[in-house]
Amino acid sequence: MRFDIITIFPDMFGSVFKEGVVAKGIEKGLLDIRVHDLRDYTTDKHRQVDDRPFGGGPGMVLMPDPLFRAVETNRLSKESPVYVLSPQGQRLNSALAEKAAGCSQILLVCGRYEGIDERVIEHLATDEISIGDYILTGGEPAAWVFVDAVSRFVPSVIGKEESVAMDSFQDGILDCPHYTRPRDYQGYAVPEVLFSGDHKKIAEWRRTMALKKTSAVRPDLLPDKENRRERKRK
Ligand code: SAM
Repeated sequence: MRFDIITIFPDMFGSVFKEGVVAKGIEKGLLDIRVHDLRDYTTDKHRQVDDRPFGGGPGMVLMPDPLFRAVETNRLSKESPVYVLSPQGQRLNSALAEKAAGCSQILLVCGRYEGIDERVIEHLATDEISIGDYILTGGEPAAWVFVDAVSRFVPSVIGKEESVAMDSFQDGILDCPHYTRPRDYQGYAVPEVLFSGDHKKIAEWRRTMALKKTSAVRPDLLPDKENRRERKRK
C-alpha cells in the first residue's frame, strides 16, 4: 500500500516512519510512504505556497495551484482517495482505518495556517479527515496518525494477525487488561484466573473485563443488549 503525504514541512516526518511496526512494513515491502515537499510543485522563483485570505482576516491560506499539481503528479489512478487532513472532516476511527487499508494508494494533504483554499476541498479532495475535535497547528501529526492507524490493517504488517483482532474497537468494545511478569509487583497481584491454564475460563474473564471497562468508560460503544446486562450486573 502506498501513501503520498503532501506537506510544506517534509522534515517533520524525519524519523516517524523509521522505527516500529510501520518501519518493518516498509522493510517488508508492504508499505511505501512518500513525503512530498509542496514547494517542489510551485512555478515561481520564491516557491510560494500560501497567500493572504480574500476578504481579509488573519493568517495565510495554502494556494490551490501547488496542491493540485502535487496531487495530480503523484496520483496513480483516479481511484486513489485524496484526503485533506482537517478538523472539519469525518472523524478517523477503527472502521475507517480498516476500510482505507483496502486501497492501493492514498494521498494525504496537510494543511497549515488558516487552512487550505476551499477549491481544493471541493474539486480535488475525495474527503476530509479529522483526528479529533481540537485544532492542531498543521496536518502533519494527523497524517502520521492516519498512516499509523491504517498500516496496522494492511495484511502482514502486524506479525500476529490476532493481536489486531483483539484490540479495542475491533469487535465494538475495548480490549481486556493485560499483565506480564512479575506475578506480584510490590504487593499488586495478577488475577489468579490467568494462571489457571483453563483457556475457556480465561477467555470468559477477558470478555467480562473488556465489557466492564467499556461500560465504565465508553458505554456508548456497548450494544443495547450488552449495556442492559452490564447495568444489571453492577
Ligand atoms: N482554520 C481551520 C479551522 O478552524 O477549521 C484550522 C486550521 S489548522 C490551524 C491548520 C491545519 O491543521 C488544517 O488545515 C489541518 O490540515 C490541520 N488540522 C488541525 N486540526 C486538525 C484535526 N483535528 N484533524 C486533522 N487535521 C487537523
